[in-house]
Amino acid sequence: MHIWLMVLLMILGLAVPGGIARAADVESVDYGAFKMMVRQGQIGEATVGPRRIEARTRSEPPRTVTTVLVPDAALVPLLERHEVTIRGEAVGGGGGGDWAIWLLPVMALLLIWGLWGGSRQAQPPGGVAGFGRSRARVVLPGAPQTTSFRDVAGVPEAKAELAEVVDFLREPDRYTGLGGRLPRGILLVGPPGTGKTLLAKAVAGEAGVPFFALSGSEFVELFVGVGAGRVRDLFRQAREKAPCVIFIDELDALGRVRASHPMAVNEERDQTLNQLLAEMDGFDSVAPVMVLSATNRPEVLDPALLRPGRFDRQVTVDRPDQIGREQILRVHAAKVRLGDDVKLAELARRTTGMSGAELANVINEGALLAGRARRPAVTMPDLSAALERVVAGLERPHLVLDPGERHRVSVHESGHALAACLLPGADPVARVSLVPRGTSGLGYTWQLPEGEKRLFTRSNLLDRVCVLLAGRAAEELVLGEPSTGSADDLQRATDMVRALICQAGLGEQLGQQAFASPDRFMPGSRGALPMGISEATAARIDGEVQSTLETAAARVRGLMSERLATLCRLAQVLREQEQLEGEQVRAIVAEAGWQERRAA
Ligand code: ADP
Repeated sequence: MHIWLMVLLMILGLAVPGGIARAADVESVDYGAFKMMVRQGQIGEATVGPRRIEARTRSEPPRTVTTVLVPDAALVPLLERHEVTIRGEAVGGGGGGDWAIWLLPVMALLLIWGLWGGSRQAQPPGGVAGFGRSRARVVLPGAPQTTSFRDVAGVPEAKAELAEVVDFLREPDRYTGLGGRLPRGILLVGPPGTGKTLLAKAVAGEAGVPFFALSGSEFVELFVGVGAGRVRDLFRQAREKAPCVIFIDELDALGRVRASHPMAVNEERDQTLNQLLAEMDGFDSVAPVMVLSATNRPEVLDPALLRPGRFDRQVTVDRPDQIGREQILRVHAAKVRLGDDVKLAELARRTTGMSGAELANVINEGALLAGRARRPAVTMPDLSAALERVVAGLERPHLVLDPGERHRVSVHESGHALAACLLPGADPVARVSLVPRGTSGLGYTWQLPEGEKRLFTRSNLLDRVCVLLAGRAAEELVLGEPSTGSADDLQRATDMVRALICQAGLGEQLGQQAFASPDRFMPGSRGALPMGISEATAARIDGEVQSTLETAAARVRGLMSERLATLCRLAQVLREQEQLEGEQVRAIVAEAGWQERRAA
């Protein structure tokens, strides 16, 4: 950026004084007057530019006159007759005195371009021409970043499926020789952080071929046609290096259903997508180019992308189960020095639902904590603390609550914990804490699923909604009124109930119909309803969401008011100890329950 600024200042410094001085000396005359001056023998020298003629008189001192250039075949013979020295100027070289006038805007444009380019580190060299170039990151075989299947753990099905792709890349003839057609596109479907990028890289690494990686959102630009240019360029580069692997992350950013709404904004994305489809149909080179792509929302993709010959194979990359988590932890733990007390199987048990990326993060955070404490190896307490950090966010030791707020937070969290102990559909409590963590929470209740749960019934889900609403219910019962502390709980409870009704069809009144997911909303059109939902249905959905939430709130309030003594005891112990483990919470609830039952 500084270089651009300096260049501009230099040009201004050179150009402007000269330009102003010249403008003062130069006399502009019309073409007829100029010819008259030639005939009268006043002109000694003429420089004919593409648009202007600049001439010097024979007078002493000489004057400079300029005139516009008029197509006139008689001019040159006239000049010759009067012995005027004729100088030419190359087209595009500029017309003498006015060069500063066009140079300034050009330099200003270049300056803007420079500033823009400076903020985009990934831009390849090539200035204006580089605009339509693909910005793919390339990993060539043998580079230090190459990855193999050994680096990917916990996703055995996906690995087995992709092992075949490695074969296609290594020995395409074995398949094409028999008349088979190699697949071109493979769609990796799964939540973020489950190792889709890693798998694609490993395919390239195992096959020993170049790997081109780009994100779908990097194609979509403001200017129509740029994305399509990038797709073309990417495939051109890839074909030159075939066999190779192209990886497009976030395919949904560019491959959404075309023209889902009638706004011109979509034009660029449509063109880009069309170009991608054309490229995928087009390459029939001898050496294969495999296009691997990742998304976590295959349902929003344009059906044209999923047709045979394009992304016709789908590989699911799901969150790992307990064994998978242990394997992933092992892969990442191999990079750090572990203490003897570390039990990765135990850590795997406590990380239900986490993705590979989160597990990698736990190990890394653990290593950083051990480093901070200058320990020679990473211990189990380091990893436990790291796990809590990843789940609940960083501790905020400087945030000190006043006693009133602390009391409220203890009641709120005790409400969540008590409800989680009492409701069978809720995950058991692992820890309740008054240590503020993360960006919003002043305390937190951490629940941990017992096993891998993939299906939920209506009552399971409603129990979970009750646990979310329990913090507010506890505040109401013990302190008389709720506070803003429940805002996040309410949002999550509402989202859960809406999904229960609209996506799972588990609503009581609306029953068995899937109402469009938010993805099908038409963006941009204000107040528009999802496709296929009438205003009357929307009102019924809103009504049912509200009544379900109210019923759940009443239920949890009833549950709490029956055990008010337990709730208060839990809050008190929590205030005293700041943090309670799951077993401690369950012990207090069981003990108080026994006392209450005896009293009754
Ligand atoms: P995705 O592309 O699915 O969002 P990534 O492949 O980018 O996820 O994963 C991010 C990081 O998480 C990887 O670089 C790796 O360190 C770790 N990771 C994720 N899944 C796995 C896995 N199955 N095995 C080992 N490491 C994993």
